[in-house]
Amino acid sequence: MTKLAFLPFTKPTIDEATINDVAAVLRSGWLTSNGPKVQAFEAQLSQYCGGRPVRTFNSGTCTLEIALRIAGVGPGDEVITTPNSWVATANVILEVGATPVFADIDPRTHNIDLDQVAAAITPRTKAIIPVHMCGLPCDMDKLYALAKKYSLRVVEDAAQAIGSSWAGKRIGAFGDLVSFSFQVNKNIMTAEGGCLVVNNADEAAYAERYRLQGVSRSGLDGIDVDVMGGKYNMTEIAAAIGLGQMLRLEEFNAQRLMLARHYFATFGTQFENQTGAELPVADFEQSNWHMFHIVLPARITRATFMQKMLDLNIGLGFHYAAIHLFTMYRKRGFKEGMFPVAERVCRQIVTLPLFPAMSNADVERVVAATRASLA
Ligand SMILES: *Cc1c(COP(=O)(O)O)cnc(C)c1O
Repeated sequence: MTKLAFLPFTKPTIDEATINDVAAVLRSGWLTSNGPKVQAFEAQLSQYCGGRPVRTFNSGTCTLEIALRIAGVGPGDEVITTPNSWVATANVILEVGATPVFADIDPRTHNIDLDQVAAAITPRTKAIIPVHMCGLPCDMDKLYALAKKYSLRVVEDAAQAIGSSWAGKRIGAFGDLVSFSFQVNKNIMTAEGGCLVVNNADEAAYAERYRLQGVSRSGLDGIDVDVMGGKYNMTEIAAAIGLGQMLRLEEFNAQRLMLARHYFATFGTQFENQTGAELPVADFEQSNWHMFHIVLPARITRATFMQKMLDLNIGLGFHYAAIHLFTMYRKRGFKEGMFPVAERVCRQIVTLPLFPAMSNADVERVVAATRASLA
């Protein structure tokens, strides 16, 4: 049998028009801070998020950190988050000098379990960082009711959720502080980058200062520094990519949804019973289908499964390893058994290929390979 071409778990779609726009930026001589492309990208993102203020940055990690700073989170404060995320989600809590507190996840949605969040709240809790895993939104009604009840700030890690919605409203268009990532694997990307949706002009001004050394300027030569900022500004080159991606966002997400539907149709209703594997929540309304996950049955190790798929020339990811079991977190007292749902899911979860340039035939190939590898 001839080997089919390697199928990665994700790949960005970049059109020639975007490549030409990037070349034009390079020729223009204005490559970095706050040029016309960054301003246009921020204006479009703001419009996309219901007119709320949006500022861009060079990652979806610094956006989370800056959101915590805007929320006034620091030493002595506790922030509740999920152990099932990219490690950045928890690292930023340590970065601002606060204490990460984890709450276990829901076994079906793989999002943070809001009852567990409620149980973890103490007088020192200042904020919650929920993650919309794979673009499947958390229960926003329950989340914001909880935040209101205990006067907590919410920093939504919406890194994966551009184009997702809750009850007909886009993620980012409502709520408190909302952070998106444009890292290359995300539904739209700028190679590296991110943006933060804030509540008002004051928070936007803080965001601008934090992203560039805390600097504020006035007149021709007026300059002051009043907060400890960093070096987090988005480049014009990245913004040019982002503008090209924005034009395709609805199309990309529609293609992802179509492929996700085809995954479910091809796996069939008996797949879970037959194999013991678990499919994701079949949300065809609110998710942006950032990733398509399955949880493997305990009888096969993830490494074995990944190797079998690799032998069939299919690349998989695993999103994610449980954060609290990393050495740096174990050193802070976290250990096995504390969050059993996340531990099981994070040990057995694999990410199947899903990206806009895939075809239905690719989906069928992955499903056949998955069935064969589980047999
Ligand atoms: C990608 C991602 C981040 C980090 O974004 P970067 O742009 O890579 O810094 C944070 N949280 C989640 C859930 C992500 O998927």
